[in-house]
Order: sequence, then C-alpha cells, then structure tokens
Amino acid sequence: MLSCKQATELMSQEQDRPLRLGERIGLRLHAWICSSCANYRRQMDVLRSACRRFGGGGTP
Ligand SMILES: [Zn+2]
Repeated sequence: MLSCKQATELMSQEQDRPLRLGERIGLRLHAWICSSCANYRRQMDVLRSACRRFGGGGTP
C-alpha cells in the first residue's frame, strides 16, 4: 500500500506523464481509503482544469 507521501508524489507526476497501470491502481486504492489524499486529489483536479482554462490551453 502506498504511503500518503508516495500517493501525493504520484499525483504530481501524473500531471507530467501517464502513470503505469500499477501506479494508477495503487493511487486509486489509496485515495479510496485515505480521505485526505482523496481531497488533495480533488483539489489537484480543480487546479488542473483551472490552469487549462486560464493558462493557455489553446484558447487565446
Ligand atoms: Zn493518503
């Protein structure tokens, strides 16, 4: 089982590269049992979509 540190590291790596299947499963399992990491992940998703919207993801 991943530690919270490993889980958050994977979440940030996920922004830069596609995770391997085993990494994705480990991350999902961890977020399932760990509410603080699940919350963190939700915030990352919000941030990422905000960045895409405002940070120049194609629309001028
Ligand atoms: Zn955790």
